[in-house]
Amino acid sequence: MPKHILILGGGIAGLTAAYELTRLQQSGADLTFTLIEKSARLGGTVETERRSTTAGEFVIDLGPDGWVSEKPWARELAIELGLGDQLLPSNDAERVTWVLHNQRLEAMPDGMRMMVPSDLGSLDHAPLFNAEARAAYAAEPGRAEELKRTAAQSDESVASFVRRHYGDEVLRTIGAPLLGGIFGGDVEQLSVRAVMKPFVDMEREYGSLILALQAKAVERSSRPQTGNKATIFTSLLRGTGALAEAMIATLDPQNIMFHRRAVSLTRVGSQWRVGSELDVRTPGVSAEAHLADHVLIALPVLQARDLLRDLDGTAIRVMQMQTSSAAVVAFGFLPEKNVQWPKGFGFLVPPTDASGGGLLAATFSDQKYAHRAPAGGRLIRAYYGGLDVAADGSDLPASAMRSLPYGNALEDLRSILGPLPDPDFSITRLWHRALPQYAVSHLERMAELDARIQQLGGLHLLGNGYRGVGLPDLIRDARAAARSVAGAS
Ligand SMILES: Cc1cc2nc3c(=O)[nH]c(=O)nc-3n(C[C@H](O)[C@H](O)[C@H](O)COP(=O)(O)OP(=O)(O)OC[C@H]3O[C@@H](n4cnc5c(N)ncnc54)[C@H](O)[C@@H]3O)c2cc1C
Repeated sequence: MPKHILILGGGIAGLTAAYELTRLQQSGADLTFTLIEKSARLGGTVETERRSTTAGEFVIDLGPDGWVSEKPWARELAIELGLGDQLLPSNDAERVTWVLHNQRLEAMPDGMRMMVPSDLGSLDHAPLFNAEARAAYAAEPGRAEELKRTAAQSDESVASFVRRHYGDEVLRTIGAPLLGGIFGGDVEQLSVRAVMKPFVDMEREYGSLILALQAKAVERSSRPQTGNKATIFTSLLRGTGALAEAMIATLDPQNIMFHRRAVSLTRVGSQWRVGSELDVRTPGVSAEAHLADHVLIALPVLQARDLLRDLDGTAIRVMQMQTSSAAVVAFGFLPEKNVQWPKGFGFLVPPTDASGGGLLAATFSDQKYAHRAPAGGRLIRAYYGGLDVAADGSDLPASAMRSLPYGNALEDLRSILGPLPDPDFSITRLWHRALPQYAVSHLERMAELDARIQQLGGLHLLGNGYRGVGLPDLIRDARAAARSVAGAS
């Protein structure tokens, strides 16, 4: 009997697992699989819309618009899928990141890695930093030994880490907006070890992060030049959605069940039984049971937690996470509108309070990557985000997304960028609870979770709740899990 595998959830994690299992099947692995997806499409948050206009085509990423080039797994997958000639480097020569500061856009100085400058001289004329911030930066290299000696023995919040190095002013000015722009979360709660590991390693080795960056630059310059300098981000000519589309094209449609929601998970002898329902509004409608030898749970973390509710109390405890929702509002302008905005990749907005909800960032998409808008056309994405918790700590319902003020996105952009004409189109996507928050001690909780899941046997947790939220990490883990259940690694 071939081994049967169920994949729950068809976001990039579940889809990649399905792609890998298909490859393994084709190379002779004795397995069958079914992917159960709640919605009508695969890809989850990865979605690209293409708009044809009189001037040419706009390519609009409504979720991720690329990935960090340093991590090879998305690039490798794209090449394997025949998309090697469509890999698109970010326009790093044009890179400027602006930060809204005292109602004005101020440029982040050159050579900053997150909130750390590699050259203190670059801060001299940067209006973003006041005297307090500059003094904190200038003092940090001299505090290297103290910082190394007093480095936290256990995990701490991003805010606490940044404060120890550069104080409150730097945290407020760029620490919170940078991390908020990526995770839509609260720096007072985010785990520094989970979301800024390279900086924790630098502190351990050098004490001062500024000295660490300088040492790494010297190290790099002494290495032989390959002439192949990777840009910071990579995407695809047809948008990140092209990666999902290329994987979908390899799948046998008979292996996919759409409009089905996994609702229960129970052990039956040596197998697992997953219960699913067809109609999410009417529980019990067209309920079905699916038996499998392995279940790859690639659901958003809180849905995965719900499935494990009767199986393991510890897993349930450690999977309790806050999540944040996001709204992306894209505006396209045809060339004749002659829209102008500053050069660079976009701007960040410091969050106004912990639960956020407001405009966190905007991307000048046509400048960050080539081919996103027809010549002379402009494409901008406004990004709103915030935690799904009310002030009293209770969860907010999906309808609370509507209270994110993204409906004013055009006005918000105008208030920052100056007059903008009415756009030729706009597209809004709401991503409810799309980003889990890796809170302090996340890595310890995940180690505990891994141990529990392993004990249950035949279950695998994939997706952005556990070991990284970026596409490369999700792709790496999904492929590894698929190979492992197939007995191929
Ligand atoms: C606005 C935004 C911008 C981002 N930008 C970037 C970026 O530039 N680069 C980057 O690397 N990452 C970025 N990320 C992060 C990255 O996109 C996500 O972490 C990743 O796409 C999540 O993939 P996933 O498969 O874990 O989950 P999801 O995409 O959430 O997929 C989960 C799937 O499970 C389905 N599902 C849910 N419940 C059930 C159920 N009960 N039964 C069956 N199916 C179910 C859902 O319909 C969905 O298809 C961004 C995220 C957001 C929200």
